[in-house]
Amino acid sequence: MFKGILIEKDEQGYRAALKDIDDAALPEGNVTVRVSHSTLNYKDGLAITGKSPVVRKFPMVPGIDLAGVVETSTHPDYKAGDAVVLNGWGVGETHWGGLAQRARLNGDWLVPLPAAFTPAQAMAIGTAGYTAMLCVMALEDHGVTPDKGEVLVTGAAGGVGSVAVSILAKLGYQVAAVTGRPQEADYLKSLGASTVLDRAEFSSAGKPLVKERWAGAVDTVGSHTLANVCAATKYRGTVAACGLAGGMDFPSTVAPFILRGVTLAGIDSVMCPRAIRLKAWQRLATDLDVSKLALITQEIGLSDAISIAHKLIEGQVRGRVVVKVDA
Ligand code: NDP
Repeated sequence: MFKGILIEKDEQGYRAALKDIDDAALPEGNVTVRVSHSTLNYKDGLAITGKSPVVRKFPMVPGIDLAGVVETSTHPDYKAGDAVVLNGWGVGETHWGGLAQRARLNGDWLVPLPAAFTPAQAMAIGTAGYTAMLCVMALEDHGVTPDKGEVLVTGAAGGVGSVAVSILAKLGYQVAAVTGRPQEADYLKSLGASTVLDRAEFSSAGKPLVKERWAGAVDTVGSHTLANVCAATKYRGTVAACGLAGGMDFPSTVAPFILRGVTLAGIDSVMCPRAIRLKAWQRLATDLDVSKLALITQEIGLSDAISIAHKLIEGQVRGRVVVKVDA
């Protein structure tokens, strides 16, 4: 038996609870992992609260990220004792995930734990941090270098936003951070933001084009915010869009794209090819100041994960949450 969060949906409704789970119930897979740490991402919050239909099979162990040690493996790349990390691939949505003390998975989904990080640090990064890195790589791929001007990060006090601000600042970009929590201005400055802007300036319908300001942007919010960011992006700038914390819609016009050559770069972490994942984790090892992770992260136990997931979806959690699963 092992402890884990189980989401069930039946005639009694949709519910998540911490349970003792029988090993025999583990899904198919060629690698079994003893999970030491997981995290809470926005998607885990949606799964646990049932706010959006991210869970596709029931019962489900949520948790799109995990770090742990291989217990048994028939996969050629992994053997007992290997330290591994997993992000995405539908884990926690269609296949049992990381918010449990044991996971059985397809070894193709795993990456070796980068030597630069402890399992807890890898989960402080988690999907949120690895997505932030993918966003920064997309800006670089499109020629947004620090000398091009200010870059913007929306949803900055959240998980993706906090890591994006930290990486961009370390790489020498001048970073403007957008938040709905003015009380987090000092926090965002401690991560390296030079300017902190009020979310309200971005969240309602704006003009198709406004004065050019941003060389690039990482947007975690979507909806009017993304439209307004595109409208103020400089000629040939790039906006990396990864999130929908403010809404799934995109009420924009084509004006920024056809008149200013702006690129809207879509970022997906879930099915991202392995080579790019490995590159993102290598870049995190060099381009994220590990000392910033401590500022960004709080650690909780499995028994607190459900209540904190509700807070996360209400926008009340700052930065990243590591779940110590083996406590
Ligand atoms: P968090 O909950 O940690 O952060 C989201 C932040 O968005 C909040 O902290 C808040 O920042 C801001 N926000 C929340 N609600 C609103 C709103 N109504 N309007 C404007 N801003 C709002 O989530 P994550 O950082 O884990 O994820 C951020 C987004 O990125 C989510 O939509 C998530 O689904 C998406 N995502 C996508 C991935 C991909 O592969 N494409 C991977 C990972 C995440 P503040 O308080 O500073 O305003």
